[in-house]
Amino acid sequence: MITFEQVSKRYEDGTTAVQPLDLHIEKGEFFVLVGPSGCGKTTTLKMINRLIEPTQGSIYVNGTDHNTIQVHKLRQQIGYVLQQIALFPHMTVEENIAVTPDLLHWDRDKTSKRIDELLHMVGMDPAVFRSRRPDELSGGQQQRIGVIRALAADPPVVLMDEPFSALDPIARERLQNDLLELQQTIRKTIVFVTHDIQEAIKLGDRIAVMDGGAIVQVDTPQQLLQHP
Ligand code: ADP
Ligand code: ADP
Repeated sequence: MITFEQVSKRYEDGTTAVQPLDLHIEKGEFFVLVGPSGCGKTTTLKMINRLIEPTQGSIYVNGTDHNTIQVHKLRQQIGYVLQQIALFPHMTVEENIAVTPDLLHWDRDKTSKRIDELLHMVGMDPAVFRSRRPDELSGGQQQRIGVIRALAADPPVVLMDEPFSALDPIARERLQNDLLELQQTIRKTIVFVTHDIQEAIKLGDRIAVMDGGAIVQVDTPQQLLQHP
């Protein structure tokens, strides 16, 4: 689903954030990038949806070469969840979730059904939550909306950058469990960035350990626990 061929990134100021790397992420895989702050995780993630352009190398998403597709077409196939809860504060929950479906000109009924379906998936009753604004939700509830908003138009790929780091430990654990359960149903290709090895082991089908802009190990959680 996602392939990197000798992809590297050097920023304008000369910082090499990512050394040439090869990577293949399978369809439906929950893939985690883990490593200390500054090791190149976010840069790697953002190259997938071209928020950052690679300096060298090729990236393929869903069989298509990055460079042959318009950025907005690429981004329609890729949901994106950030650490900072980034809901539009002046919009209701339903308006927030509808942003991408509206951009794609879905009809009202289809969007409305999708909103209810997504809210049910994360245990939030649409009758209660559809018309609320972000400041009327807990941190955990806001990030649930952040996650389902990224899923709204049913993209095959979802990128998540430390989505639960800003939450308290109890909310974080609940959202981790809910995400695992959700993934059983939706089977998206998820690329998830975290600096927390426990979180990586709990969530990942496979885990890539990064250090100094390189991937130093790619393993299943079981393998990683045996050969840390
Ligand atoms: P991580 O997500 O693992 O914390 P990043 O990908 O954010 O790592 O950063 C990797 C390296 O690139 C770090 O040394 C960081 O300081 C540097 N870096 C990140 N963004 C920029 C930028 N826009 N310009 C210059 N250097 C950057
Ligand atoms: P926070 O911990 O930031 O306040 P949460 O979303 O974790 O936000 O929890 C808000 C409330 O919703 C809690 O009181 C919890 O009991 C309830 N809640 C959260 N997730 C679920 C769930 N999956 N099933 C049932 N109740 C839940």
